[in-house]
Order: sequence, then C-alpha cells, then structure tokens
Amino acid sequence: MERVDIELINHFEGLIKSSNKSIVLVPHMHPDGDAMGSVLGLWRVLQNSGLKVKIVSPTKYPEFYHWMDGHEQVIIFSHHPKQAANAFNESDLMICMDFNQLSRVGNMKELVENFKGKKILIDHHPYPGDFTDLVISDVSCSSTAELTFSILQSTKFAPFVDTNAATSFFTGIMTDTGSFDFNVSDPRTFETVAQLTRMGIDQLDIHSKVYDNYSADRMRLMGFCLSNRMTVYPEYHAAAMYISLEDQKAFNFVTGDNEGFVNMPLSIKGVVFSALFTEKEKYIKVSFRSKGEFAVNEICEKYFNGGGHRNASGGELYASMQETLAKFENLLPEFEEKIKQSVK
Ligand code: 5GP
Ligand code: MN
Repeated sequence: MERVDIELINHFEGLIKSSNKSIVLVPHMHPDGDAMGSVLGLWRVLQNSGLKVKIVSPTKYPEFYHWMDGHEQVIIFSHHPKQAANAFNESDLMICMDFNQLSRVGNMKELVENFKGKKILIDHHPYPGDFTDLVISDVSCSSTAELTFSILQSTKFAPFVDTNAATSFFTGIMTDTGSFDFNVSDPRTFETVAQLTRMGIDQLDIHSKVYDNYSADRMRLMGFCLSNRMTVYPEYHAAAMYISLEDQKAFNFVTGDNEGFVNMPLSIKGVVFSALFTEKEKYIKVSFRSKGEFAVNEICEKYFNGGGHRNASGGELYASMQETLAKFENLLPEFEEKIKQSVK
C-alpha cells in the first residue's frame, strides 16, 4: 500500500513538471538531521533527474551534518541574504520541508511568504499551516525524510534515488527517531530502512559521522550539565536541565553542542517528562521530550510560544533563565495527572 494518496502524488509530480526555472528547497531554521536529510536527499534526486535545484536554509546547521552530500551548495540565509534572495527569485517552485508554520523559518519568513511561484509542503508535524498550494503531511511518519522517500517511490523520480540520496534520507530517519529509540512504532519505518540499506547505504558509518563527531568540550559540557544543571522532580516524574550563556562560554559552545541533552534525563528510572532550557542572547530556547501519551507539544503551544510533536517539542520564551525555570516548576502541578498516566 502506498503511504501517500495517489492524487497528492500526481499533484506533486504535476507541480514539478510545470516548473521551468529552478526549484528551491527550504528546511526550518536551526535545521536538524531530518530537515537537512530531507532537503539534501530530495535535492540529489531532483538534480539526478536533470532539474535545477537549490537549497536555502534560514540559518546554519551543526557541523556533524556537514559531511552530507550537497552540503557545500546550501545557501545560508542568515550569512548570505542576497544570495538567498537571488535563489528565490530564480525559482518558480518552492518545497518547504519538515516544518508546519511560517514562523519556523525565522527571519526568512518574508522571502518565503512573498515567493511568487508555486509552493509545496512536505512535513510530519501536527496541524500543518495553510501557506502552500500543496500539503503532503503525515503525522504518523517517523520523519519528513521517510515521507519524502515514500513519495518519491511512487513517482517517476524513483530510479533517481541513489546511494547518496538514500544516505541523506537515512540520516533524517535515524536522527528523528533518536537512532530508532522513539517514533518507530510503525513497521513501515523499518521497511523503508530495509529499502535504503539495499541501496547501499552504510548505516554504521552514517551513525558514526553524526554521533561520534563531537568535541571534547561538548562531552565536558554534558558532564557538567548532568552534574550541576539538572533538577529531578521525582514526584512529577520530570526533570529539567539548563545551560546559561556563561556555561556556553566556559565550554566553547558551538551550534549543536547541546543536541541530545534533552533526551538524557528520560533514562532516569520513572522520568517521563524532560525539559532543556538553553539561554540565547535574547530569549530562552525551550526543548521538551516525553514518553507515552503525555503531549509536550500542548505545553509548548500554550506556554512557550512553540509546538512540535507529542513526544518532542520546542519553543522560545522571552524571559530570564530564572523566570523560565520558575514558570516550568509552577506548571508541573497542572500536568501532574497527565504525566502520571504516562508512567508505566
Ligand atoms: P528541539 O527540541 O529538538 O529543538 O525540537 C523538537 C521538535 O519541536 C522539533 O522537531 C519541532 O517540531 C519542534 N519545535 C522546536 N522548536 C520549536 C519552535 O520554536 N516552534 C515550534 N512550533 N516548534 C518547535
Ligand atoms: Mn522531522
């Protein structure tokens, strides 16, 4: 059975066919492995089929994704705004990937909003926004990369999925499932991985490039945060960790150094709700993770100007770290009952 409705597939192929100029692919800001895996995989496939394709990312992404095929041609809007604007002007089709709201492209919102050509959204977040001509959204899918691969399998582009593209798609699936730790209850995800494996990907090498590529500083920061910046609330089955600007300075923090930190407290017996607060220059970046039915995206939407998935969500708060931590603590009693329902 096809994962995506045939009418949507036809619409997707039709929009690509009617493009005469370039196609521009757009991930969300601070792109993760899934956002980059999706755009780089699709870029490779469309490019292999002879089309002209560009990728414009709102911001840069962690170095441990820089090994990926196509990385050197990604235009970073925050660093090269003119080049980014040119890429949009030279394109007549835009494909937004792995986000559901325009706000997720940050300062690039205007460029995306005012884009004159046709627009497609491929995503797996709940409540996809109405800002494109075509929406292909599947919340049940592990990752946008898996969804994109499934779409391509039903199109004339299937033969153009090569090992490089398969490697990018696998990277998206692997990172969005925490190496097959969550979001993987659907057997189709493993079937997709089997297909990608047959295409010659080297899973061990991909895993190693992403997860064994950190600096000593990042490992030391992790140890420091676990020892000095984590509070466990056993009565609420919750834990919170924070990283101040000062901490970041002390450990020579670079983008991506806190990746995965938010998942760590979930390894503590009984903890089903974990929060990470990372101080930025003007706001606090919020990350929530949960196990089971407890929906952290609802908390992010209601209290932290964000959203996301049931078990992985994020947001931003324009407040001090102290205020943010206090807000979090004060919210715990409100969610006590719901949290407890997730405890097994
Ligand atoms: P992370 O905690 O890794 O930054 O984000 C986890 C998930 O939460 C992302 O995949 C994304 O779906 C969502 N998310 C993170 N930050 C934001 C945000 O600021 N706004 C919204 N709407 N979603 C976010
Ligand atoms: Mn994703």
